[in-house]
Amino acid sequence: MNMAELLEQIISDLGQEIALIGDDIDERYFVDWSRENPCKPDVILRPACSTDVSIILKHCHTAGQVVVTQGGMTGLVGGATPRPGEWVISMERMKGVTELDMDSMTMTTLAGTPLEELQNVARDAGVMLPLDLGARGSCTIGGNISTNAGGNQVIQYGMTRSLVLGLEAVMADGTIISSKNKLLKNNTGFDLKHLFIGSEGVLGIVTEAVLRLFPAKSSRQSALCALDDFTCVINLLTQLKKNLQVVSSYEVMWENYFRYAINHIEYTRDPFDNQYKYYVLVESEGNDPVIDEELFQSVLFNEIEKGTIKDAMIAQSVKDRNDFWAIRDSVGEMLRLIKDEANFDIGIPLNKTASCIEKIETTLMKKYPGIIYLVFGHLGDGNLHIIAATGKKEDKKDIYDTVYRITGEHDGGIAAEHGIGILKKPWLHLSRSEQEINLMRQLKMTLDPKNILNPGRVI
Ligand SMILES: Cc1cc2nc3c(=O)[nH]c(=O)nc-3n(C[C@H](O)[C@H](O)[C@H](O)COP(=O)(O)OP(=O)(O)OC[C@H]3O[C@@H](n4cnc5c(N)ncnc54)[C@H](O)[C@@H]3O)c2cc1C
Repeated sequence: MNMAELLEQIISDLGQEIALIGDDIDERYFVDWSRENPCKPDVILRPACSTDVSIILKHCHTAGQVVVTQGGMTGLVGGATPRPGEWVISMERMKGVTELDMDSMTMTTLAGTPLEELQNVARDAGVMLPLDLGARGSCTIGGNISTNAGGNQVIQYGMTRSLVLGLEAVMADGTIISSKNKLLKNNTGFDLKHLFIGSEGVLGIVTEAVLRLFPAKSSRQSALCALDDFTCVINLLTQLKKNLQVVSSYEVMWENYFRYAINHIEYTRDPFDNQYKYYVLVESEGNDPVIDEELFQSVLFNEIEKGTIKDAMIAQSVKDRNDFWAIRDSVGEMLRLIKDEANFDIGIPLNKTASCIEKIETTLMKKYPGIIYLVFGHLGDGNLHIIAATGKKEDKKDIYDTVYRITGEHDGGIAAEHGIGILKKPWLHLSRSEQEINLMRQLKMTLDPKNILNPGRVI
């Protein structure tokens, strides 16, 4: 069957509006946020429900047509970027909350719904969906599930995996696996949802999900702390965990990242008079605004007196809080300013973070004087991001090799959050054994024997 016949069959089953071709294909489908290897696909298929996805995959499976699934395209590893010959299945029409169950504290949602919309629905209902990341306005819950996204509140609520109770997914041959489980405890056989969480769309297309909700906290305290010593950054985390009921965010920015944001991103501002080596955005939550505020302040003042913290700004308003987060979240804009950057998402054991980051910095600076080198991330989860750019595309491979080698020497992992996609595939073996990779391949061959779903990603 040729491409035109296959498309005709799909259109005959699902109607003309299912497909975009030719000039109707907008550039937003060409490449994910990494901007690497853009490619115009021949066909975009836009299902509106799981049955549409099933019908599309049945036809593609029979015809051996390769497809790539697209959510919000905020992925940073090229996983959703089409490659020549691949058709795109865009989840953009599969939007909306299908059920809000306040007794079970669950929200059931279609996979193409942007994360921020789900956060808002939860907030309006007086509850909280704790998944949060800088790309919240564009990324979709299906993409979050497929990449097992982390984000800003993992320290308290875990990764996306821990927030998903039930899932519906469509297999490569079109079979719908529907398990919209709401039970917290369910040991009835294999928990199949985990096949699809974090497997980056290579084992199935996620179409719907049941997410856990949490009681909204009535108070939130935020502070931007300035420190001069990395041991103090670790000690502060330990003290906060010990003395506060909940530490919901612990985001560290090295001076190089903080300064770059202040100097280049228009809407950021430095609230301090002096410059420091590290800046930590700390947040805590509770249910008694007065008591929580007092406790938060006293814990921070104590750490200032001990000399752990050199200076601190405690948010007095939502605006203050947003100003602090604007610095941390400005990475999206930075990635648009910096050319040909290598973009890292490494996991490092906390006790080895200082030596690892120092070695990476000295090695890169020596090799590439003048390199842009920015470090920041979710230190409370042992996860740091590095942006490194010389402005020359040809330096990127060596920069990746260098950083991953040093990360490996410090018992770290090459992908804490963003996944492997296509761009990180050459280094997967540094974090996973041959046996593990072989098992991943066997799973892929069993579930997608014709290799039509996101081929070439991850493994
Ligand atoms: C500014 C910025 C900040 C970010 N911060 C974080 C962060 O803090 N933590 C973090 O973890 N990530 C972060 N990311 C990365 C990115 O936002 C996440 O990986 C996000 O989960 C991707 O969602 P998406 O809908 O954009 O997926 P896409 O980019 O569209 O796709 C990502 C992968 O998932 C697959 N996929 C998408 N939808 C489905 C589906 N329904 N079924 C099966 N497979 C699917 C795609 O094929 C692809 O392999 C950030 C990105 C940016 C640009």
